[in-house]
Amino acid sequence: MFERRERAERGERGDREDRGEREGRGFYRRKICRFCTEKVLLIDYKDMQMLRGFITDRGKIIPRRISGTCAKHQRELTTAIKRARNIAFLPFTERG
Ligand SMILES: [Zn+2]
Repeated sequence: MFERRERAERGERGDREDRGEREGRGFYRRKICRFCTEKVLLIDYKDMQMLRGFITDRGKIIPRRISGTCAKHQRELTTAIKRARNIAFLPFTERG
């Protein structure tokens, strides 16, 4: 007996991603985790260009509510950013 593998590979949701383009309030746009889209397994802390896209100019990490990053990747990202900060690629959060 074979299980249906095809379905699992395609993903339960099918290929119709909700791009959040629905009209209405027009304000809230659901973003999809960028890393999931690109199938990133491990976020490279040396890739500071990429990391910079996820921090504010003050050096704060953009919350996932805003960036749309999923929990798993947000965590990776946080680790990566912290690591990058430690090796002085990125600025620490500036205070005042
Ligand atoms: Zn993700």
